[in-house]
Amino acid sequence: MATPYSPKAALGPRAGGAVILAGGLAGALAGVGAHLASRALYLAFLVPVAWGLVVGLAVAVAARKFRVPRPAFAALAASAGVMVAAASQLGLDYRIDRHERAIAAAEVYDMSSMGAGPTELIEERYEARLAELGFGDYARRRYGIDPNLDPASGLASSLGPRGTIALSALELVIAIVIAIALARRQALAPACPSCGAWRVEAPLGVGAQGVASDVVDCLLRDRPEAAAARIVPPDTREVVSFSRLSCPAGHDGRGGVLRIVEHELDKRRETRAHQTAELEVSGEELGAVAQALEEAGP
Ligand SMILES: [Zn+2]
Repeated sequence: MATPYSPKAALGPRAGGAVILAGGLAGALAGVGAHLASRALYLAFLVPVAWGLVVGLAVAVAARKFRVPRPAFAALAASAGVMVAAASQLGLDYRIDRHERAIAAAEVYDMSSMGAGPTELIEERYEARLAELGFGDYARRRYGIDPNLDPASGLASSLGPRGTIALSALELVIAIVIAIALARRQALAPACPSCGAWRVEAPLGVGAQGVASDVVDCLLRDRPEAAAARIVPPDTREVVSFSRLSCPAGHDGRGGVLRIVEHELDKRRETRAHQTAELEVSGEELGAVAQALEEAGP
C-alpha cells in the first residue's frame, strides 16, 4: 500500500557531525567575511542574506554528500551555523574595537607625557588598557544600552537600544530563515531508507491535469487499478507528470517513490509546476500507473 514519503534512513554520527561541522565552518567564514566587509562599508541587510546563503548552501551540500535526508536535522545545523556566523562577527568586531581604543589611549598618554616616552611604557599602557576593555562594555556600547557610553555606531544612537537589538534579532531571523530553506530543500529530497543514498528520478509520463489528487487518494487507499483508470491523455498544455525515484544501488527493487507534479498555466499563460505528492509505492502499484501512462502517452 502506498504511503507518503518520509525520511527513514538512519542518521550516522559521522554524517551528522559532518553536516554540523559544515554549517559551523561556513558560519565562521561568513562571520569573518561580514566583519571585513562591514569595516569597509555599511551593508545593512546584505549581511544576514549572505550568512543565510553561505550557511544554507554549505549544509545542503554536506547533507547531499554525507547522505543526511533529515529536514529537521539540516534545519538545526543551518540555524547553528548562522549563530556561529553572528558570534564570530561580533567577536572580531569586539577585538578590533578593543585594539583601536587601546592604541588611542596609549597615544593620548604618549602625547600627554610630551612624546618620546620609552616604547616599553607605551606598550605597557596599551596592554593595561586592553585588559580594561571588556566585552560587556563593548556590547553595551554596540547596542547603545549604557547612556554613559557613546554608542558604537550612528545606527545605535538613532535607533536606541531596543531598536538596535530588535534590528539585530531581525537580521538573525532573516539569515536563519534563508539558511533553513536551502538546507531543508536538499534534506527533503527522497532518499533510500536502506543506504541513505538520494533516489534518482526517471520520468514515467504525463496525463491530463486535474486528476492528481484523485490518483493520490486511490493509491493511499490501496486501489492502484482505480488510480490507473483516472489517468487519461492530456489535451492541453496543462498536464500532470509522473516520475519514479529509486535507489541507485537498487534497494527499491521495482518500487520506489512516485512523484506527482501538476503543471498549470498561470495568468500569463506560462506553466507553473506544483508538486502534489511523493508516495512510497510498491513495484505493482508503480507498474499499474506506468502502464496507464504508456496508454495515455503520445
Ligand atoms: Zn539504497
